[in-house]
Amino acid sequence: NEEFFRKADKLNVVGQLAAGLAHEIRNPLTSLRGFIQLMRTGGTGKPEYYDILISELDRINNIVNEFLIIAKPHAASFRTNDIIHILSNVVTLLEAQAAMNNIQIYLETEDDLPQLECSELEIKQVFINLLKNAIEAMPGGGEIRIVAAVQHNEFLIRIIDQGDGIPESQIPRLGEPFYTTKEKGTGLGLMMCYKIINDHQGRIAIESIVGKGTTFEIILPLNRKC
Ligand code: ADP
Ligand code: MG
Repeated sequence: NEEFFRKADKLNVVGQLAAGLAHEIRNPLTSLRGFIQLMRTGGTGKPEYYDILISELDRINNIVNEFLIIAKPHAASFRTNDIIHILSNVVTLLEAQAAMNNIQIYLETEDDLPQLECSELEIKQVFINLLKNAIEAMPGGGEIRIVAAVQHNEFLIRIIDQGDGIPESQIPRLGEPFYTTKEKGTGLGLMMCYKIINDHQGRIAIESIVGKGTTFEIILPLNRKC
């Protein structure tokens, strides 16, 4: 799959990442500096200013946090895991946040799915990122379905939302570092997903219809070559 390899290449461009990181952090820093200067000379601390300072600081914090998870050199511990068990843990984790947004999450699985060699922590991170994106894409509420199945010696997990959808022209940009359409987004979530699934010798397929919803499909080999 060409698209998949192109993304894998992109992940190796450490320089591009570092430059992007510097840029992403410099913006909120510049704004912080400006506001602090304004408050100093004006002698006022309007509540709005404090709100801006806090949200800019949060933004830096979010970027650095996500970046650390990506950059942390760790030997991912591959063990035999029950993917459905991981999925249902993640659903439990995010159910409250979903409910607050009038979203129900349904987990639909085939019986007797096999266990999979994978890094539980990393795969969990992928599901969390994809589900968060699905929730964030559904401001008006709705349903998220998670479907798990085995097909042609591969494990498939589909996350199907009823969100805003993604214009076709933007799909190639997904997973690019710092590509985000959200005011408070970091654009690092999908990049991390691609890296992790790549490390698992799997791939990600995306289908989306603007105004109807998006399906992210994770495809993992049943027999990973070591
Ligand atoms: P972030 O969530 O911080 O913006 P991500 O890397 O997780 O960064 O996602 C990048 C972009 O991909 C999002 O800003 C959004 O435009 C788009 N996107 C990802 N998942 C979905 C989805 N389920 N529905 C609609 N758009 C999505
Ligand atoms: Mg995200």
